[in-house]
Amino acid sequence: MAEKITMGPGGKLQVPDEPIIPFIEGDGTGVDIWPAAKAVIDAAVAKEGKTIGWTEVLAGEKAFKQTGDWLPEPTLAAFREYLIGIKGPLTTPVGGGFRSLNVALRQLLDLYVCLRPVRWFSGVPSPVKHPELVDMVIFRENTEDIYAGLEVEEGTPEAKRLIELLHDELGWQIPLDSGVGIKPISITRSKRLVRAALQYAVDHGRKSVTLVHKGNIQKFTEGAFRKWGYEVAREEFADVAVTWDDCGGHPGDKILVKDNIADITLQQVLTRPDDFDVIATTNLNGDYLSDAVAAQVGGIGIAPGANINYVTGHGIFEATHGTAPKYAGQDKVNPGSVLLSGVLMLEHLGWKSAADNIVRAMEATIAERIVTYDFARQMEGATEVKTSEFAGAIIERL
Ligand code: NAP
Repeated sequence: MAEKITMGPGGKLQVPDEPIIPFIEGDGTGVDIWPAAKAVIDAAVAKEGKTIGWTEVLAGEKAFKQTGDWLPEPTLAAFREYLIGIKGPLTTPVGGGFRSLNVALRQLLDLYVCLRPVRWFSGVPSPVKHPELVDMVIFRENTEDIYAGLEVEEGTPEAKRLIELLHDELGWQIPLDSGVGIKPISITRSKRLVRAALQYAVDHGRKSVTLVHKGNIQKFTEGAFRKWGYEVAREEFADVAVTWDDCGGHPGDKILVKDNIADITLQQVLTRPDDFDVIATTNLNGDYLSDAVAAQVGGIGIAPGANINYVTGHGIFEATHGTAPKYAGQDKVNPGSVLLSGVLMLEHLGWKSAADNIVRAMEATIAERIVTYDFARQMEGATEVKTSEFAGAIIERL
């Protein structure tokens, strides 16, 4: 019988053999990629004698058509109760009262880590010479920064008042015809993000954690993130991790905690990707960095992601691309992003052998050049298959 995943002692998930997992199919190409990914996940867990008790919850266009609500309360209630869920891409409603449904879900459940593992899967076409050197796990802060939506529009009374206040109180000279955004970076939220990244590095035997920031210019936000990150390493992880300054770059068998300026990082992830392992960074830097790194290893059709609160146990695993509406319903696009998000979910649940089996089977399929259109156009001698056929080929190779 399907049962709930719960949080056990020590903040570890307790996962039954038939966990209830809510899913959102997703808009646009969600109708193509979700059934394909689900079929592969189901086949892989069945080989381990397990089952997932999937339960569909609504969000996006499907929810709006059926309930008049883009993000119905029962959907949030299900994610709250069952802790772990997975979703396809969602349309951003225009004038729906949300900046984006994805952002709303992250904020409502306080999913403070955006987790983006980026590694190369053998055979995937890549624009770089050594994609096999890319194996990074990006921890992007998900709840604050300039990204949190604290903005006023140019020309509004609010913008005028804010600009005047800043002038009168702080002497700041901001042109009157400006829009203004606020960038809060807090101790609490910075530290919990870096703590999660360090704990991940410990749990997964990783070698380093790099704090990526723009602290040379934005000293009290990005620079403070760096400072607080090092404090977490020194105060909470001294037995397993050491900072660059404290060891001169020679960490012995401990995890090396170092930092890098964001702009040079965008170069170095290309020129020497093997210098980077776990990365912890603020929201906007993380947004740029995760897409830039993903481009090296096959891009948007294949990049997995998750939004997690490691304290409450809540996590939503998701395709990182959008709904690609021009391809919707054509059984054409790559299901890799939502499928590998499912792999990430299985790893998070501790079902590693099912996860590894999917990766092996997917690599075998790509090695035989059986791929969807996005890879086929970059590969010589490829056999282009539909979304469902790609999933079928992976299942045959499990
Ligand atoms: P998009 O849906 O990500 O599509 C951009 C391009 O990426 C597509 O035209 C296609 O490239 C490629 N692509 C996307 N999914 C793919 C897949 N599964 N396999 C292979 N290639 C894939 O971005 P968009 O067109 O800017 O956004 C459309 C809608 O999605 C908007 O409403 C946006 O707000 C929303 N969105 C949602 C999320 C989310 O739910 N997480 C994220 C981003 C955007 P080619 O044209 O080169 O084939």
